[in-house]
Amino acid sequence: MTNKVTLTQFIIEHQRELQNASGTFSVLLNNIATACKEISHLVNQGALVGVLGSAESENIQGEEQKKLDIITHDIMVRSLNWTGCLAGMASEEIDETISIPGQYPKGKYLVLFDPLDGSSNIDVNLTVGTIFSILRCQEGLEPTHEDFLRPGHEQVCAGFVLYGPSTMMILTTGHGVNGFTLDQEIGEFILTHPAMMIPEQTSEFAINMSNQRFWEKPVQRYVEECLQGVEGPRGKNFNMRWLASLVAEVYRILTRGGLFMYPYDFKDPTKAGRLRLMYEANPMAFIIEQAGGACSTGRERILDIKPSAIHQRVPLVLGSKAEVERVVAYHLES
Ligand code: MG
Ligand code: MG
Repeated sequence: MTNKVTLTQFIIEHQRELQNASGTFSVLLNNIATACKEISHLVNQGALVGVLGSAESENIQGEEQKKLDIITHDIMVRSLNWTGCLAGMASEEIDETISIPGQYPKGKYLVLFDPLDGSSNIDVNLTVGTIFSILRCQEGLEPTHEDFLRPGHEQVCAGFVLYGPSTMMILTTGHGVNGFTLDQEIGEFILTHPAMMIPEQTSEFAINMSNQRFWEKPVQRYVEECLQGVEGPRGKNFNMRWLASLVAEVYRILTRGGLFMYPYDFKDPTKAGRLRLMYEANPMAFIIEQAGGACSTGRERILDIKPSAIHQRVPLVLGSKAEVERVVAYHLES
């Protein structure tokens, strides 16, 4: 490959397009990239360095923590807290927001992250990832809870890193979506997938079918119509995919189109959904919309939700625009 564009070069060239972005923005993204390279190395080494398996603890959401959930959280925090770019952080693994230690200056960004998405897959050697969302806040001040609870359309940047056969970073700053592949030889993310767009035509859907009996009617209807194939109202055959890893599902949709759903269900009616708004649904919605797709709860655009809590859960329907619109229409009809 000639004329390799590194992530650093890309960010510095493109931050000029971003309103109010300064050098600190590229410092922040570079340090996220560095943290993710370290995580990529650990995930790759796996059992060789003793990082697999359970930590024998639970996070705030009552989910079993893997050793790597805790290790990757620590890597993100210590890679970012000293940079002077951030006023605060929030992580899937910690109940409260994370303050910047007193010896470091406070910057004008907030970062929210899921340090290891799909971590239930780690012991079976399937694709996992890191998801991050960046918001603006007032520079130099200790952020309040309200500063974090901003709707997704206020994100200035969102991305995720995929630890799969290749390590990749997918990034948006609101000017389209670009994909970078980690060149392990030189230790740099290289632009390999410029201007990613979700194919409009699709015949794939992804949903956890084992929850079927708990779904609401509109979701039952959508899936039933797909399953009827050429004989049904859709007039074509569909394939089903289920990777149980949001990062992997979203990457597949970015490259091949399709629909992913983790809808509201009656399995535990007290939970609004499974996935978390602030560091899973919002960053993915920003990326999906920038790639020409759509992202909804089934009733409301994800990016318009006014968050009420850092660890708030939401139903999630994302992917090719026409398919998401169909699911939303079925919700409106019922
Ligand atoms: Mg996750
Ligand atoms: Mg996680």
